[in-house]
Amino acid sequence: MHLGDFYTPKARLLADLVKKYAANEIRLTLRQNILIRHIRADLIPFFYVELQKLGFANAGYNSTSDITACPGTDTCNLGISSSTGIAVVLEKVLEEEYPSYINNKEIAIKISGCMNACGQHNMAHIGFQGMSIKVGNLQAPGLQVLIGGGILGDGNGRFSDKLVKIPSKRGPDALRILLNDIEANQQQKESFLEYYDRQGKTYFYNLLKGLSDTTNLLPDDFIDWGYSEKYVKAIGVGECAGVVIDLIATLLFESEEKITNSQEAFQENQFSDSIYYAYTAIVNTAKALLIAAGIKTNTQAGIISSFQEQFVTTHKIELEGSFDDLVYQIKNEKPTKIFAASYLNDAKLFYSKIDAYRKTAVSHVSVSYTHLTLPTTPYV
Ligand code: SF4
Repeated sequence: MHLGDFYTPKARLLADLVKKYAANEIRLTLRQNILIRHIRADLIPFFYVELQKLGFANAGYNSTSDITACPGTDTCNLGISSSTGIAVVLEKVLEEEYPSYINNKEIAIKISGCMNACGQHNMAHIGFQGMSIKVGNLQAPGLQVLIGGGILGDGNGRFSDKLVKIPSKRGPDALRILLNDIEANQQQKESFLEYYDRQGKTYFYNLLKGLSDTTNLLPDDFIDWGYSEKYVKAIGVGECAGVVIDLIATLLFESEEKITNSQEAFQENQFSDSIYYAYTAIVNTAKALLIAAGIKTNTQAGIISSFQEQFVTTHKIELEGSFDDLVYQIKNEKPTKIFAASYLNDAKLFYSKIDAYRKTAVSHVSVSYTHLTLPTTPYV
């Protein structure tokens, strides 16, 4: 079943077939396929032909070319970039340039449109997570490439490592680089995960890092796969598995990611970017708490004044000064290394405080926030 697409007319025909010739039962799998049990052995050729007529008999079940992807920006409001769009393109790359992978069941590719991981990208041998990439004042659709996860059997699995963020339009090149490397260097009888462990995370990061350069983006890089309009980042309420993770938790996840972005930019001596990400982390974190309290968060200035009014003035959240003082340091400071380090640290401390507040609010346990133990060591 291609990317889990299963429409009613075909579903009815399949249901008829299964009722007549199998055990009247189908199972939908995590890899977006259908398992049909108890077909009589002498009926299998007939059944196969019937499945072919429905378009459910494509070769490559559970193989590398059988990519799993969540709906992403097609229909999910939490999607940050297109997952089905890039999945279709990667499947084409595999079919046309690497046809042997249609029989390879050792490497699974999985894609999610955001960090909620409905496409299980973080458990894939090769995973892609939708995100956005800031380039000056513009945003480009992006993908985080993850490698080295998978199912180990006996109920065990391993998470993949986050390697590098690249513009979405370079997803096919990332796959080509990885597959070319695997074909050249993986030893016989070595599994993909053994190969990944032998080479190590840094080796794969170095393979792909050239794709993360955003100084040479083309106009097409600002248009996501499957779209003709320029990319705009927007997040709402999700429609599928992500909806079980509430919007507040999602915003807090986002803040964590922004803090990581800030730290990465700092380590690359991009202090203005680091400060920008720290700023967005602080505002986004405040927004999460305001939304949890049912307060409107239409503008950044509104978020900042509402947070002061609702949480700081009321001493629900204790800060050393006002929330405006904390956020608007950027107005008074130059983007130096010292300020970037201090602002990043402020963002981290603020996030810790809000995260603790939220956890306590959710668990209905009363606590005095002035006694919270917060990390005091700076990032650098
Ligand atoms: S919430 Fe789930 S379905 Fe929606 S974009 Fe994120 S990972 Fe995909």
